[in-house]
Amino acid sequence: MSKRPYNKPAGGWDSLISSLRAVRSEGIVGKGARTMLKANRPQGFDCPGCAWPDRNPHSTFEFCENGVKAVAAEATAKRIGAAFFAEHTVSWLAQQSDQWLEAQGRLTEPLRYDPDSDRYLPSSWDQCFEQIAAQLNALDTPHRAAFYTSGRASNEAAFLYQLFVRLYGTNNLPDCSNLCHEASGVAMGEQLGSGKGTVTLDDFERCEAIFIFGQNPGSNHPRMLGELRAAAKRGCRIVAVNPLRERGLERFTHPQSPIEMLSGGSTAIASTYLNPRIGGDLALVTGMLKCVLDWGEQDDEFIAAHTTGVEQLRKLGEAADWSEIEAQSGLSRAQIEQAARIYCDSRATIFCWGMGITQHARSVATIQMLVNLLLLRGNVGKPGAGPCPVRGHSNVQGDRTMGIYEKPSDAFLDRLGSHFDFTPPREHGLDVVGSIAAMERGEVEVLFALGGNFAAATPDTRRTHAALRRCRLTAHVTTKLNRSHLVLGANAFILPCLGRTEIDQQVGGAQGVTVEDSMSMVHISSGINPPASDLLLSEPAIVARLAAATLGEEQVRWRWLIEDYDRIRDHIEGCIDGFGRFNQRLQTPGGFHLRNPAREREWRTTGGRARFIAHALQPSGNGDALQLMTVRSHDQYNTTVYGDADRYRGIRGERRPLMISATDLQRLGLQSGERVDLVSLWHDGERRAEDFLLVEYAIPPGNLAAYFPETNALVPLDHVAERAGTPASKAIPVRIERRSVG
Ligand code: SF4
Repeated sequence: MSKRPYNKPAGGWDSLISSLRAVRSEGIVGKGARTMLKANRPQGFDCPGCAWPDRNPHSTFEFCENGVKAVAAEATAKRIGAAFFAEHTVSWLAQQSDQWLEAQGRLTEPLRYDPDSDRYLPSSWDQCFEQIAAQLNALDTPHRAAFYTSGRASNEAAFLYQLFVRLYGTNNLPDCSNLCHEASGVAMGEQLGSGKGTVTLDDFERCEAIFIFGQNPGSNHPRMLGELRAAAKRGCRIVAVNPLRERGLERFTHPQSPIEMLSGGSTAIASTYLNPRIGGDLALVTGMLKCVLDWGEQDDEFIAAHTTGVEQLRKLGEAADWSEIEAQSGLSRAQIEQAARIYCDSRATIFCWGMGITQHARSVATIQMLVNLLLLRGNVGKPGAGPCPVRGHSNVQGDRTMGIYEKPSDAFLDRLGSHFDFTPPREHGLDVVGSIAAMERGEVEVLFALGGNFAAATPDTRRTHAALRRCRLTAHVTTKLNRSHLVLGANAFILPCLGRTEIDQQVGGAQGVTVEDSMSMVHISSGINPPASDLLLSEPAIVARLAAATLGEEQVRWRWLIEDYDRIRDHIEGCIDGFGRFNQRLQTPGGFHLRNPAREREWRTTGGRARFIAHALQPSGNGDALQLMTVRSHDQYNTTVYGDADRYRGIRGERRPLMISATDLQRLGLQSGERVDLVSLWHDGERRAEDFLLVEYAIPPGNLAAYFPETNALVPLDHVAERAGTPASKAIPVRIERRSVG
């Protein structure tokens, strides 16, 4: 392991070198280059990386370093099939690292687990669908099955999936939103009548200030740096709020700027960088809100015309105590007042946020206070302003729009039921954490996963794995081998699908699928490369054929629908708001913006007005326990680990670094470079994760940071965001234990 401070800006030559390394390590230099030229472009495919929108008109290189890693990992020349699985037992594979599993290559054929040999054996698609259907139909109630969705699934696959699951008879549709931005949806839905951000890329050209809370765009949404750079260059004030100093929020060399690349130049991103303590955002926002009200900088006209509930906010502001605000935020009053001044001097402000805000017990409260602060100065529904939760997976927002939600609205079910002439289940289903708890109790016996890596992305690893092993069936639609395929139920299947970059040939010709990005832009994505194997099926085809095998085709002609995805989109048009003339509008290069009423100050809330909802500070209750936050390295995307170079943090060759302040090292009598164990402290007992390397790092005292999925074992299953159920992975009370040598 090497730890050397990284003194260069984000981006620059190193991002080009890293991109080249990615395509070379997958054996596709030529193919990789050709493929990337079609990324995020009309007539091309949507990058399967994150949900950052595409500029329209498109530049020649509409991708980033981590987009190259995501595409190269999918377009890799490496393949694994029957021979690979004949050589390796599941028990042996389970001992390999996540990075090693990821690096084995694309799956080439459907596989069924054989407990006698402890191996996956090749199977035909028909056999797989028949056997899975038989298991599903053998359950005494459809509520004994849970149907998980990863945010990479296309709109067409997601729409068919929710229809199949509801015709099957349950709303058990846990999805990766439950693990990431659920709190954003709950909070904004209540206050603005829409759970989605109201900002578009055009607003980044018109705002006067951008605040970025709990997000690391340099690694997780790299093309966002291009927008931030352009904004900073035109004088927009950018305020970064993050316990960690992330390079992408400090300086950036745009790889597509010849001047910066050739001159070694770069652009400063954040003009102000605040390092609150973990979970200190609510106190920071409370302090800023107090300043706005004390200074009389609120927009009274907007408040009178569009909102309700401001009085409770005034009372909260008056009662809020600065010493408590400073103590809980870990920031000084002066720092908070400086941030509030930047906010008040701006006539149009965007608030962006990521997991650093949503994966906390009080995340809904924090987000509602963020929205309160925006509403106080009328920064919703005007150019250059608004809430901008930046989503992770490329279509996680689209999947929710398609009905992938365990708590569907009656209006949605009414429309779906009348359109397909059936009575959808009304009982709300289980989210991710709820599904695991139900598996543990033996109430859920089947997990079917449309993509993703359920066993690695979820909290409380030991309990989750034990719960999965209690299942009578686990089945995963996927492109590559991962941990979830090795934590299996009594019966298990791996169903390999086409990737986003691959041509999806159906009876009606090559098909495109649609996605919806973080800013509600819906556009089509069409594969350009031959499939990794002739035995692969598309996600929509897998869902349709499983539905036909399980339910028959009297109610829905599943196979007819997948002959031409326009037919699926016609149904989407018939069932979901905002998709009128869907297929026609997709002809527009770059697609169309899905209307968000809150962006036009049409508040679909109880009472029809935007709602101030106040949340007072509460005693932290952490005692003197250290607070751990789980983070990604620069060389990973969600649970997919591409490599071990966390370049911007200067950490290489180590997946278990534990970032700790010099103050805490001294206070605890520990040395940087020592290996330790972590123990999380919870009401139901302790959880351990072992063998971490102490790395001295610029992080507030009392706070620690380490990578997931390695630290997910420390997150108690019921340590979740109030009202949202999202695992509170960004604030885990832990203690450090020295490892006994020898
Ligand atoms: S910013 Fe996200 S969507 Fe865009 S190329 Fe990079 S990883 Fe892909």
